[in-house]
Amino acid sequence: MDLTKLTIRQANKGLKNKNFSATELCQSYLDRIHKKNKEIFAFLTITDKMALDQAKTVDKWIAQKKEIPLLAGIPMAIKDIILVKNVKCTGGSKILENYIATYDATVVEKLRNQGAVILGKTNLDEFAMGASGEHSAFGPTKNPYDLERVPGGSSSGSAAAVAADMCCYSLGTDTGGSIRQPSSFCGTVGLKPTYGSISRFGLMAMASSLDHVGVISKTVEDCEIVFNSLKGKDPLDSTSISPGTQAVDFQIKGLKIGIPKEYFIAGMDKNVENSVRQSIKKYEDMGAKIEEISLPHTEYAIATYYIIVQSEVSANMARYDGIKYGYSINQNTKSEKLLDVYLKSRAFGFGQEVKRRIILGTYILSAGYYDAYYLKAQKVRTLIRNDFEKAFKKVDVILAPTTPTTAFKLGENTSNPLIMYLCDVFTAPLDLAGIPAINIPCDKIGSLPIGLQIIGQAFQEKQIFKVAGLL
Ligand code: GLN
Repeated sequence: MDLTKLTIRQANKGLKNKNFSATELCQSYLDRIHKKNKEIFAFLTITDKMALDQAKTVDKWIAQKKEIPLLAGIPMAIKDIILVKNVKCTGGSKILENYIATYDATVVEKLRNQGAVILGKTNLDEFAMGASGEHSAFGPTKNPYDLERVPGGSSSGSAAAVAADMCCYSLGTDTGGSIRQPSSFCGTVGLKPTYGSISRFGLMAMASSLDHVGVISKTVEDCEIVFNSLKGKDPLDSTSISPGTQAVDFQIKGLKIGIPKEYFIAGMDKNVENSVRQSIKKYEDMGAKIEEISLPHTEYAIATYYIIVQSEVSANMARYDGIKYGYSINQNTKSEKLLDVYLKSRAFGFGQEVKRRIILGTYILSAGYYDAYYLKAQKVRTLIRNDFEKAFKKVDVILAPTTPTTAFKLGENTSNPLIMYLCDVFTAPLDLAGIPAINIPCDKIGSLPIGLQIIGQAFQEKQIFKVAGLL
């Protein structure tokens, strides 16, 4: 039996029935990672010893006949922008190349408490800025379905690792699409939950009002299991909340599904459009009512997103100053003046895309421009959110493509940041609105997966899992 193909529930059953031990399960994944990582480069750090120690603990629990949680002994991976105590956390950046995390993120603490086995830290675009994985300071991750293509980004390694059976599930982050877009390119399930439903404590901030921690997995059921074990109010993240439990009386018969006409645009891949429309038809055949809706401010979403993101990025990146964390030009010489320490450390430590955003964001927030750009973008953000609120008065869920194309070739878009930014046309509006959306694979063109996005109202994750599970 190939243990790296099991779902969470299957692996849990196998552990409980003693078909295999947690140590064997962990070792199967580690063997696979060591075999595959050279070509795919999904992992930046592999934590063999920590993983095996955790697996042994779970084996002890089982030997003592303890009731083990569903996630106990299940091997998983974490995007290298979420802190795991005593493990390197680079954010995909040279500036943090040798930075060791001094505490666990809340999500990591929750996973540890349930006996999860952390296999390592996954590759990403530098500080999560990107849509291809090519902005990692340590080299790009490859798409397991076609090694000449990108896996998407910024959670490039987290999606590729799941797709290549190098972990059972992974954690990613989504600020404008970074869980759903790579999930679409790699044929994985990827959830961006409601803003605030999962704690961001211990996540290196990119754009704080848009950052979400979420889950990448092989099945919808796995995604739901992990989401349920991570969600909830965290006193260490004041934006987190527990909405309480809502009963979802779910029936596909008569469920109203909205199809936003603005999400089927000129220039999108015809194959993607056809596959998504066929999936919509399947829901109709199951008894759902399909209705065309309009989200009229969609056309401003990318512009709005990139004004807000650059502004927040420029503020959040200020902490990497060559003194507080990570790389410092002063490390060896100790002879630089303070201003030179800042300038030279940042000039050396940050990559091109991060610098571009710091410069744009600083300009946008400067006196005289703040009102014209940042403030206006915040107002448009409200209009975008209102579009969804209005739509949800008429429909229960919204279906749309996740990305306008399938995975593109490595290097194809690196010289044109605007094209790269447009990868997020269908995903960024949901980050701006803060509402949950899940990518599920719905088809393939040749070897390349196509993703369908299911969008729900705030805190209605349960409903989108139900809808997603049907396909
Ligand atoms: N591609 C988008 C960007 O570069 C989204 C990134 C993300 O979600 N972290 O900003």
